[in-house]
Amino acid sequence: MADNSLAVSLDLGKLTIQDFMREFKAGKVSSKALTENFLALYNQDRESELPLNAFLEIYDDAVSLAEKADEERRQAEVAGTLDKLFEEKPLLGIPFAVKDNISVRGKHLTCSSKILQGYVAPYDATVISRLKSAGAIPLGRCNMDEFAMGSSTEYSIYGPTRNPVDRNCVSGGSSGGSTAAVAANQAVFGLGTETGGSVRLPASYCGIYGLKPTYGVLSRWGVVAYGSSLDQVGLLGRTPGDIGIPLGVLSGVDFYDDTSRDLPFKEELKKLEPLSGESMASLRIAIPRQFAEAKGLNRDVAKVFEQTKDWFSSKGAVLDIVDLPVLDSAIASYYVIALSEAASNLSRFDGVRYGARVDNGTGYDDLYVDTRSAGFGPEVKRRIIIGNYVLSEQFSGTCYKKGMTVRAKIQEEVSRLFENYDLILCPTCPTTAFKLGQKVDDPLEMYLSDLFTTFVNLARIPSLSVPAGRDSDNLPVGIQFAGAMFSDVRILRIAQTWENEHPYCGFPVCNGGAE
Ligand code: GLN
Repeated sequence: MADNSLAVSLDLGKLTIQDFMREFKAGKVSSKALTENFLALYNQDRESELPLNAFLEIYDDAVSLAEKADEERRQAEVAGTLDKLFEEKPLLGIPFAVKDNISVRGKHLTCSSKILQGYVAPYDATVISRLKSAGAIPLGRCNMDEFAMGSSTEYSIYGPTRNPVDRNCVSGGSSGGSTAAVAANQAVFGLGTETGGSVRLPASYCGIYGLKPTYGVLSRWGVVAYGSSLDQVGLLGRTPGDIGIPLGVLSGVDFYDDTSRDLPFKEELKKLEPLSGESMASLRIAIPRQFAEAKGLNRDVAKVFEQTKDWFSSKGAVLDIVDLPVLDSAIASYYVIALSEAASNLSRFDGVRYGARVDNGTGYDDLYVDTRSAGFGPEVKRRIIIGNYVLSEQFSGTCYKKGMTVRAKIQEEVSRLFENYDLILCPTCPTTAFKLGQKVDDPLEMYLSDLFTTFVNLARIPSLSVPAGRDSDNLPVGIQFAGAMFSDVRILRIAQTWENEHPYCGFPVCNGGAE
């Protein structure tokens, strides 16, 4: 069996799921070695001058679960049932990062908020129980913007998560913790959540892949709600395959989530093949004018976007500029809807049922007000106030209903576009990662980071942020491959074609930032 020493090995940190499973099955590496390697990298980072602050906690049973996986493998080898074991448990022994808003039974869950301090999840979210059944190991809890509200992972009671590529920059948010952990090789893959870009945006800033699947494809059971009609679990990985394999395990109807749906062609995710040359040449790609010509689009991001378009053209794909004026209203519609749903969802944090409580003994009304005043951070309070204002009887007609009308129009126009096109191509974000502290006091500026991501959530379509290049400061640039509802597998196959020709984009840290 492989050496289980604690030595920091970058090669172990860089293994893809497919590589690890092959080597593990052959007995050349153990889950314990892999897990301890991540712990060593995590500990080494904590001691560094500017720690990432990606993991808030490493689960105390991670190593023993890895030992259990090793033992399971050993017994199967003796019994001659290795094939069966690896068929049943396609993620056996693989450690993954968990965002702090996803329930892991017996573990703390705080949404990086004071109000949930001390709360322990009493059950596993469906995404966690499915990963556990497939043999994967929850490695630890990762930092996020409080209640997933933000675009930089700076609105957290635990302080910001730094960008592994440039530690003076933000990691992006709100799933910045799990993203930075994966980008810095502290986990194989990560779970994040999306309401309006929170997986794709940090993926873009940190130089890895981030998928927001079709709405409903991953169950939301056990995930703390922000804006329920938009919320979606998402996946982070250094290669399309590291996203595809967990997606295949996780997707499917869940009794506990009425919005859950199965994913067609998911058998193809077991071994993600690139799209054939012929299929690439037949792709029709739409470039919304509203994004290509957006004010505030950084020059370097625009350049990488041009290069990505050229790559598609070189494959024979047809690229057309399309006009979708309704996209200009996506961000306004998103914030009206997300904040209204948030105000309603967050009313459950009352100091009685979950987490921290401030009780001065002056009655229930005071307990409610005092707990919420002390427990929520300023950004969350701002959103609850705006959301309740939007929903108030006086304004719901002018704000909320208008937001919903715009959303319906976005859904309609985007799905009509996919009658003639296979893909929408656009940058994930107008800029690359910005400096820590740069936008934290300017909520409007922060909201504008979401300019290109929110239409995807409103339209409920899948979109993958692909690490497509670097800016002049060597910061990663992500480009989105967005497709029609339930085209998740095809998007990942297109990304696999990309990855085969740009294999270093996914390893911004290990290769020292080289292209
Ligand atoms: N940045 C967006 C917001 O603050 C998106 C957050 C998310 O997707 N969870 O609402």
